[in-house]
Amino acid sequence: MNLFPNYCYFYSPNPTVMESTLYLYNTLSRTKELFLPIRPPFVGMYVCGPTVYGDPHLGHARPAITFDLVFRYLQHLGYKVRYVRNITDVGHLENDEDEGEDKIAKKARVEQLEPMEVAQYYSDRYFLFMDALNVQRPSIEPRASGHIIEQIDMIKKILEAGYAYEVNGSVYFDVLKYNEKFNYGRLSGRVLEDLISNTRVLEGQDEKRNPSDFALWKKAQPEHIMRWPSPWSDGFPGWHLECSAMGKKYLGEHFDIHGGGMDLLFPHHESEIAQSRIANGSDSVKYWMHNNMITINGQKMGKSLGNFITLEEFFTGKHPGLAQAYSPMTIRFFILQAHYRSTLDFSNEALQAAEKGLKKLMTGIETLQTLSPTGSGDKASSVNIQKLAADCYDVMNDDFNSPMLIANLFEGVRIINLLKENKETINSPDLELLKQTFNTFVFDILGLKEEKAGGQDEIMSGLMDLILELRKDSRQKKDFSTSDRIRDALQKLNVSVKDTKDGATWEIAN
Ligand SMILES: [Zn+2]
Repeated sequence: MNLFPNYCYFYSPNPTVMESTLYLYNTLSRTKELFLPIRPPFVGMYVCGPTVYGDPHLGHARPAITFDLVFRYLQHLGYKVRYVRNITDVGHLENDEDEGEDKIAKKARVEQLEPMEVAQYYSDRYFLFMDALNVQRPSIEPRASGHIIEQIDMIKKILEAGYAYEVNGSVYFDVLKYNEKFNYGRLSGRVLEDLISNTRVLEGQDEKRNPSDFALWKKAQPEHIMRWPSPWSDGFPGWHLECSAMGKKYLGEHFDIHGGGMDLLFPHHESEIAQSRIANGSDSVKYWMHNNMITINGQKMGKSLGNFITLEEFFTGKHPGLAQAYSPMTIRFFILQAHYRSTLDFSNEALQAAEKGLKKLMTGIETLQTLSPTGSGDKASSVNIQKLAADCYDVMNDDFNSPMLIANLFEGVRIINLLKENKETINSPDLELLKQTFNTFVFDILGLKEEKAGGQDEIMSGLMDLILELRKDSRQKKDFSTSDRIRDALQKLNVSVKDTKDGATWEIAN
């Protein structure tokens, strides 16, 4: 049993919650369940992380932001959360099944790099963009390649229990035998018989007794670079195994939350449940949470589908499908405006609406800082701030309903604007509560932050607008010495100014 020793650094004491009023949707039971952690105040949460062989795209941002919201809210409620998110750097084969080339090994071959160079480079890129999105780093980020021993141990246990078999140096999980006693398909709702009749037998799958069996260990072909010794062969672990092994290592045999994208429900999570059930002798996970997908014109977005837009392209606007650049907080707000279990369809219009909405929220917060209590500040308020604050908690306690939270915050902005126009009154404690509510929910829980005109380009164009405005003023006042001075100084900096009938334009000469 893992009692989370030495664990205190994320603890944010909040006396309001320890008696849980939080409900979350458990994919396993398909209902919203009251959240009762196994060992309060500790919470163990495992989320499937990226396979690091390409730049992160919008589809990566959604699970990261979804479980960041969960992580932030649980901490806010006072739980001591250990959040584990793995990095897949070995064993994830091209077609997400047991055949094809390892995704990272393939990239390494194409780019003539070591597989670990590929994994390191794209892990760094992943962190860079997640940091920009203000996604908090998990407590532990274990790598699959660093936990081969734990994975081999787990395979031994499954073999001993009689639920796996070895063929030619590879080891497969016996799904048919498992299904006789347990239900393979209870998470995803799939029926094994249907799976079997729908599975095409690909070349090379003849090693398996049954096409729905999955690899725990694969013998490496001679050309395969990523290989480790094992009792069965020099090879590598199957993709599903790492999460079972690392979840157990860092969170114990039983832990509270396992999360990931809905695309991982089957076969990844279904197989994790089966492996852990056999290796540990009981079910590991209490609550399974899944975020829905981001679509483009109704189609799933993904690297393997080739219709993805990277986060870098969003931030720079350099992609033919983008009408403009979108800031990291616009992307974050766009994702949070939908409930995590709903699909979210990408379009420029939706992102532009998110940009406007975020601006409205941030302007409201700026206005809030300028407000003072009405009169002497001790009379009753005409606005009900207690209700606003309670509503914010209520919707978050209802399966992390961030779109409803944002709707409540907009109601708060409406109140702020009425207060500014002196159409409503507020006393000191209520004004304090209003400020605290916005701080807590906007910055701490939604994880939004203010974005000052930060980009170099934006600063540059702002400065040039100002300079050309001053030049225009001086010419209108017939102060030609000043306007000439501005023109000459710009010329020295290689900035040429052209006067057109629509006003002055500028460009930097090369
Ligand atoms: Zn996983």
